[in-house]
Amino acid sequence: MGVGVGLTALRQGAMLASMALRRRMLVELEINNKDRAYEWFLAWMAHQTHTTSASSRGRGRSIINPRRWMASHQLSVETMYEQRKNGSSSVLFKLVAGPGMHWFKYHGAWMQVKRERETRSMQMMSGVPWETITLTTLSRDRILFPQLLQEARDLAMKGQEGKLVIHTAWGIEWKPFGQPRRKRPLGSVVLEHGVAETIHRDLTSFLERRRWYADRGIPYRRGYLLYGPPGSGKTSFIQALAGSLSYDICVLNLSERGLTDDKLNHLLSNVPERSFILIEDVDAAFNKRVKTSEDGYQSSVTFSGFLNVLDGVASGEERIIFMTTNHIERLDPALIRPGRVDLALLVDDASPAQAKALFRQFYGGEDVQHVAGMNHDELEDLAQMLEHIVKAELKAGRRVSMAALQGLFIRAGPKEAIERCTELFVVRRTA
Ligand code: ADP
Repeated sequence: MGVGVGLTALRQGAMLASMALRRRMLVELEINNKDRAYEWFLAWMAHQTHTTSASSRGRGRSIINPRRWMASHQLSVETMYEQRKNGSSSVLFKLVAGPGMHWFKYHGAWMQVKRERETRSMQMMSGVPWETITLTTLSRDRILFPQLLQEARDLAMKGQEGKLVIHTAWGIEWKPFGQPRRKRPLGSVVLEHGVAETIHRDLTSFLERRRWYADRGIPYRRGYLLYGPPGSGKTSFIQALAGSLSYDICVLNLSERGLTDDKLNHLLSNVPERSFILIEDVDAAFNKRVKTSEDGYQSSVTFSGFLNVLDGVASGEERIIFMTTNHIERLDPALIRPGRVDLALLVDDASPAQAKALFRQFYGGEDVQHVAGMNHDELEDLAQMLEHIVKAELKAGRRVSMAALQGLFIRAGPKEAIERCTELFVVRRTA
């Protein structure tokens, strides 16, 4: 019995000693998933995985390659899903360290990573479970934490440099959607003469007048509406414009399930810095009459709620909203009022000049000339021919979208494109 008591005491003693040791010799850093560093750190970890091979030991644990990195056999997949308004969708998978324990060595110091998910409580409103990552290392290595986080941040920023970041709403928060995209050159979106210039001029002059607004106590915001038939380049132009000004885009879908006036208000007051807010097909949001909650369909944003949010309280925060619609006639005039929409512009089906410019863009390069076996002058003749065709078709009441032309130019060579382009024209009421 004496031995038994002695052993118990010893065991307890050892436990206390290890706790004390832990407290004195180890430091912990906790990052939760509300913090931006959370994503950065996971991405940083994932980035390291690609660079080394791995080894693992035991279940629920992974040991990182002592050279530097990790062997997480417990990966978790983050799937991003985007449904485009034209019905196409894209999916993106990202493998990151899953919940559990991981180890890695960073600048000679061992670090333990514990990723935990709190399944019982959800974050208010957003409905995302709480998660924490706890990094543990020896006290003497604590100085490495800021360095590591900085590295993770720099990596995240580097990935975005020169790229366009699209954010989407997750509950009441904005999250980057997918990988940052390559910027599209502004000139690659061919609009009717003067349209791009007008928006660009208006926006840059707005951006230069922050003080002017502040001094007069006017809310610092600007709203744009681009209207016209589908496939005319509205969304592409807004994205290219954002890219050219190094802005991000926050895509807001007003008809999203579960989005209420309150949530919308919160989202619009918490837009990441330097972002356009893009609301596509703004007419569609309020045309489908909201169904009652009896059939399980949660009511969505109300029109008056939307107007209230647009008007908002003067916050001094910059707010730039772009809206698009294919049906301006369906929009409530209350929406198209200065302060809500300051500039509304028609982005229409292809004009003769636009068609010609797009043709040149596709077939003008020397490599294309080589493949097509045509010289510059011959191609130029074809471009002129296309211009005449579009002119004649328009006179006859038939139109073609820029998207349709683009589709043809991708499929066909220059000669074939001209021969077949008339198939694409449709009778459409002018906008
Ligand atoms: P919208 O928003 O008007 O419906 P999008 O911007 O989504 O049109 O365009 C659909 C596709 O057609 C894109 O791939 C885009 O590159 C092409 N496109 C449409 N309009 C133009 C344009 N004016 N100039 C160049 N490409 C265009």
